[in-house]
Amino acid sequence: MNKDLTISQWCELCHGIAKEKGFWEKDRNIGEALMLVVTEVAEAMEGHRHQDHDNFREELADTFIRLFDLCGGLGIDIESEIAKKVEKNKARPYKHGKIC
Ligand SMILES: [Mg+2]
Repeated sequence: MNKDLTISQWCELCHGIAKEKGFWEKDRNIGEALMLVVTEVAEAMEGHRHQDHDNFREELADTFIRLFDLCGGLGIDIESEIAKKVEKNKARPYKHGKIC
């Protein structure tokens, strides 16, 4: 098990596996790759709807795996991007200034 990996290492691992399995033989269609992330979220929703907790967790994992693969393939340092965005979010007002 690889439980002690950093996010960047997960990206490298997931992208490496996807490449090895032939998913990056030609230029990746980014829109399609993003929609595949959405399909994993939808599958997680189905798991939740059917109260299939194992499937719910597995589909959430698939969601991250697809995102890690994409970030690895595009050379995006998502760890830094997350850190930057969390700081930005921390500076936002309560409920992001929305009244509801
Ligand atoms: Mg899935």
